[in-house]
Amino acid sequence: MMNMFDYISVLAGGTCKANCFFCVGKSIRKKKPPYFATEPQFEIFLSTYGRLAKKMSISGSTSDPILIDSKILLNYIKKSKASGLKTSIHTCILNLDSEKIKILKAADAIVLSVHNLNDIDFVNEITNRLKNDKIRISSVCSSENIDMIQGRDFYESFKAERFTVRKNVFEKIEPIIPYPETGEKIFNQPVFSDGNKRIALWDFKDANKYIDARYLWPDGQMRHQCYWSNLHKVNK
Ligand code: SF4
Repeated sequence: MMNMFDYISVLAGGTCKANCFFCVGKSIRKKKPPYFATEPQFEIFLSTYGRLAKKMSISGSTSDPILIDSKILLNYIKKSKASGLKTSIHTCILNLDSEKIKILKAADAIVLSVHNLNDIDFVNEITNRLKNDKIRISSVCSSENIDMIQGRDFYESFKAERFTVRKNVFEKIEPIIPYPETGEKIFNQPVFSDGNKRIALWDFKDANKYIDARYLWPDGQMRHQCYWSNLHKVNK
């Protein structure tokens, strides 16, 4: 294989009912129901880049992919997996119900956005249902939850073992992760672990300098940038 991308990604556009204050795509959100690029555009993207990567990330920056029509979402997951791509879906706990949890089962890996301990029982129930090793918890660290993120209780409360702590891009924030640094880096981002819990501390601006990916935007354009790097003019 000549050129291997770190991953390829399909992004959801449109609105998101969660409306998180730290949402990186909020300022460019279109007032229309959540949507992906069309199926023909998805197939062109898959046939162009699918053979140059091992992973597909089904994600969103202005919306959450789980809010898209379940037939369309399941179809894209199925086609991605049929192309040999390990397919992950990124979704927010606030947008899930029991029907949508069934859809998540189709993916190889699931990233759940959870930023506090309010829904801990629900998160742990999902983790049990979908198997621990499929789940990663992704939390945005902001001035609102930094004390929680800096305590071990936060990580120990979850049955999941893998976490990403993302620094809120709209604040200058430097959380201290309460586990030893391992020396391992993911896209130049440090990893912390006690052998049980494993946490990557993520700074988008820096990570984007190291990621080589291809994104299918909701309008059908194929770009090397996700929304965030485009909005904040981050260049590789
Ligand atoms: S759930 Fe995700 S897409 Fe929706 S508002 Fe929050 S950060 Fe944005």
